[in-house]
Amino acid sequence: MYDLIVIGGGPAGLTSAIYAIRKRLNVLLLSKDLGGKTNYHLALPWIQDYQVIRGLEVINKFRSELEYLDFARKMESVEKVTKIDDHFVVETKNGEKLEAKAIIVATGARQVRMDVPGEKEYTMKGLCYSALSYGPLCIDRTTIVIGDDDLAVRSAGEVSTVAKQVYVVCKTGKALDTPLGKKLQSAKNVTILKGYEVLEVKGDEYARSIVLKGPDGATREIEADTMFVEQALTPMSQMVAGLVKLDDRGRIIVDCANRTNVPGIFAAGDVTNTYAEQVLVAVGEGAKAALSAYEYLLPEL
Ligand SMILES: Cc1cc2nc3c(=O)[nH]c(=O)nc-3n(C[C@H](O)[C@H](O)[C@H](O)COP(=O)(O)OP(=O)(O)OC[C@H]3O[C@@H](n4cnc5c(N)ncnc54)[C@H](O)[C@@H]3O)c2cc1C
Repeated sequence: MYDLIVIGGGPAGLTSAIYAIRKRLNVLLLSKDLGGKTNYHLALPWIQDYQVIRGLEVINKFRSELEYLDFARKMESVEKVTKIDDHFVVETKNGEKLEAKAIIVATGARQVRMDVPGEKEYTMKGLCYSALSYGPLCIDRTTIVIGDDDLAVRSAGEVSTVAKQVYVVCKTGKALDTPLGKKLQSAKNVTILKGYEVLEVKGDEYARSIVLKGPDGATREIEADTMFVEQALTPMSQMVAGLVKLDDRGRIIVDCANRTNVPGIFAAGDVTNTYAEQVLVAVGEGAKAALSAYEYLLPEL
């Protein structure tokens, strides 16, 4: 039986695993990949590599250490976690059952895609899912923000502080009735396209325009330097749904020491209700979760 199983190999899970190894815990990291969303990096024609710090650079030391320590990791997808007496059973996609005294869930959140032609091709080539990360790079640029919820309004709000022109493409505009939404509606550099839907993303080496269908059924093409698809995030918490408490968005609820409501289960990063989806936040949360799991295990070590 492992002391600790960490599920997820993004910034949160990698940091947890490295902390646990440092504390001499018998730990296993289970993940579909190493690096998580830091494997994605938005390329923009006017930004050179030296001008940004990539998430992958921040966590590369942790990732390469786990690549080297192959006894401490398995590249497997986890289906389910169950509690049996005082320990946990983690079931992988290929049917393997692994036991541990404590668990850290660090499986992140998946961005909701538009599923239109051109989206996949131009993802991270001018088209991206994190204005929170890349909004500040849009100085004096034309930017499109797509989404109908608070996340889209927040993203458009941030981008509008630096961009030359922002188009907000939304189905209903239901999230615009807030102070920020009202500011957007009256801003000179913001155009709200309510009732529009995206049909296609077009470009060359980079995304350059989107084709929209308007409320009257007519199509329209808008050119832009960047596009942010901000249609909320889906937390990958399904393997512990029914076991730990989730919030109304499906995120695992954790306290300030990354404990869930079930003793022995901890969680970190984008899969939790912690504020802000960012690499450095996930790294910090991963460290806290590992230290917290260590405190939990200490009486038995
Ligand atoms: C396109 C994009 C660009 C971004 N750019 C930046 C940036 O420049 N700077 C910044 O600070 N933040 C950026 N972010 C946000 C940042 O990447 C995330 O906040 C951060 O990666 C969250 O870390 P995490 O470990 O919680 O989750 P993730 O990075 O999502 O990692 C989750 C891990 O869990 C694994 N996993 C999921 N489900 C399972 C399962 N069932 N079984 C096993 N393993 C599983 C995944 O394979 C992955 O390894 C960006 C986000 C996106 C979407």
